[in-house]
Amino acid sequence: MIHIENIQKVYRARGRTVTALDDVSLHVAPGEVYGVIGRSGAGKSTLLRSVTMLERPDRGRVVVDGADLSALSERELRAARQRIGMIHQHFGLLSSRDVAGNVAFPLEVTGAPRKERRRRVAELLDLVGLDGLGRAYPAQLSGGQKQRVGIARALAGSPSVLLSDEATSALDPETTGSILALLRRLNRELGLTVLLITHEMDVVKNICDSAAVMHAGRITESGSVRELLTRS
Ligand code: ADP
Ligand code: ADP
Repeated sequence: MIHIENIQKVYRARGRTVTALDDVSLHVAPGEVYGVIGRSGAGKSTLLRSVTMLERPDRGRVVVDGADLSALSERELRAARQRIGMIHQHFGLLSSRDVAGNVAFPLEVTGAPRKERRRRVAELLDLVGLDGLGRAYPAQLSGGQKQRVGIARALAGSPSVLLSDEATSALDPETTGSILALLRRLNRELGLTVLLITHEMDVVKNICDSAAVMHAGRITESGSVRELLTRS
């Protein structure tokens, strides 16, 4: 479902060069929950941003759901990104819009008619357990509820792939558990493929089928979580 092949990314800033991604390859099968774990600075967010070409790798290829994103123009990419959902550590909600307005946002961008938007928003809020909260504003919500809004919005375009950028890092352990359980349910019920980055082994143990360990821009180990846990 996601094929990352030999991608390289070097940052040059103030005479210094940092190899954020050094010949990274990984393959996420359809319906899999795949985790990339590593310390701060390992290259995880650069990797995740490369999947949607928000960051263009210097070389290598990224194929998502059969489309070679590395070969697309910016214009084609905007369409391809609609098939990829993304959630963030700090949720990324619009504070001036209510919950329904946040979830509807991607549907407005693609020009879905108002009736269709309303139907879809209600369905998404139900799916993530936020029934009845459409008129609440982000500031009125708990962290866990905000992330549920983030997840609903990410799913608005019915993506086949969900990317998670430290989605539970700002949450307490109990809330983390409930968000991971939601992601697992969406994975099972919708067949959603999930690629997540995290610095927490517990997250990998809790929901990932497979994982890769990143260190200094390279993948040092990868395999099924069961395999990785018995190896270390
Ligand atoms: P992680 O997500 O694992 O913390 P990052 O992908 O954010 O790691 O960063 C990997 C390396 O690339 C770090 O050394 C970081 O300082 C560097 N880096 C990330 N983004 C930039 C950028 N825009 N400009 C320069 N260096 C960057
Ligand atoms: P509108 O008057 O079109 O509802 P809002 O700013 O209140 O405008 O809503 C923003 C977006 O959220 C719109 O795309 C709208 O279709 C959607 N929306 C608003 N309320 C609901 C709701 N209760 N259920 C589903 N979708 C809603």
